[in-house]
Amino acid sequence: MTNRITILGSTGSIGVSTLDVVRQLGEDYAVDALTGNGNIELLARQAREAGARLAVTADDARYQDLKDALSGSGIAVASGRSGLTEAAEGPSNWVMAAIVGTAGLAPTLAAAKRGAHIALANKECLVSAGDLFIRAVADGGGRLLPVDSEHNAIFQVLEEGQRHALERIILTASGGPFRTWTREAMANVTAATARAHPNWSMGLKISIDSASMFNKALEMIEARHLFNVRPDQIEVIVHPQSIVHSMVGYSDGSVLAQMGCPDMRTAIGYALSYPSRPRLDVQRLDFTKLSRLDFEAPDEERFPALRLARRAMEAGGLQGAVLNAAKEVALDAFIEGRIGFLDMFEIVETVMDRMVDTPPAASMDDVFAADARARADAAALLARRAA
Ligand code: NAD
Ligand code: MG
Repeated sequence: MTNRITILGSTGSIGVSTLDVVRQLGEDYAVDALTGNGNIELLARQAREAGARLAVTADDARYQDLKDALSGSGIAVASGRSGLTEAAEGPSNWVMAAIVGTAGLAPTLAAAKRGAHIALANKECLVSAGDLFIRAVADGGGRLLPVDSEHNAIFQVLEEGQRHALERIILTASGGPFRTWTREAMANVTAATARAHPNWSMGLKISIDSASMFNKALEMIEARHLFNVRPDQIEVIVHPQSIVHSMVGYSDGSVLAQMGCPDMRTAIGYALSYPSRPRLDVQRLDFTKLSRLDFEAPDEERFPALRLARRAMEAGGLQGAVLNAAKEVALDAFIEGRIGFLDMFEIVETVMDRMVDTPPAASMDDVFAADARARADAAALLARRAA
């Protein structure tokens, strides 16, 4: 049977890698819909090359540009939130969720509800909506396959039959470009320095989140929901070479790890081909060329994001949504040069403090409301600083 896949966020780093994997998977996989935002030229080229049925730009103002770029192709065009929903609700049996940030939540949820299999790169779905998202997938009847490299690694080595013996999940973190920097030095970095990741080539926002370790913070919360483990079962270890992509520890002392070169195509291919393994043209790990693998404890003084993630997990409820929304606002402000690198931690923590009593979400409306309130709170803090 042919698999048809919709890629939400096809013009991003994960989207481009997904299209490459889909090509490599051969005739069993075809593209249904593609979505992008501002990069119309790339989106149109991708849609033509992949023979897509539908192309969507999230930006309504670019609808005509996309229409022009695809004229004569027979490819349908849509835009905005309704366009994203149309893509998510299309007939494809697979949806790759690779829109960055909370913008990915609504379309991914729509895909989950109709029972599409979800290859999940976007972490915010789980960080903000947690159990509600998991339930939507279960109710829809599709599968949820983690694409984030750490979670994909855990998914590869977590044997469902051994669940009773599962003790801990060990997320590896590269430590990012500031792993060895002092707090004082980090105070003055710019977005250009922060985006230079030592091992992975990724989108701008996730690269800076890696430098601040907010990315790992989101991943801790993501792991909690994906694998249904307690917060105290989730450990983070800094591993600068990014060869071990994460590990699972069992009650007999065994630790199972998944390794490979840092290339998201392995995780994407595994997700889309599960339970079998595809043949992929990616670099093979050459152990004779690895001089060493290092591991070190993370420093939560210099990287308070990890502490904030623990706080959010222990509090439960909507604290994940609050952490994520405040972080997105603070991250934008840092990218625009309005605040310093360390200010991001302070803003997120202050917003979490203020919203500590938010009751747990009964529905997605509660998630969107908490998200909006945390954003408004973070924006107000920023405005006060600027004054
Ligand atoms: P990216 O910035 O390279 O691409 C983001 C995509 O989302 C683009 O297609 C863009 O057009 C689209 N987009 C941006 N804003 C949008 C909006 N408001 N509405 C609709 N679409 C919008 O990001 P990326 O690095 O590909 O990451 C995508 C997601 O995958 C993120 O959630 C990230 O955390 C996660 N992820 C990425 C990697 C990686 O290696 N890049 C690894 C693990 C997880
Ligand atoms: Mg990751």
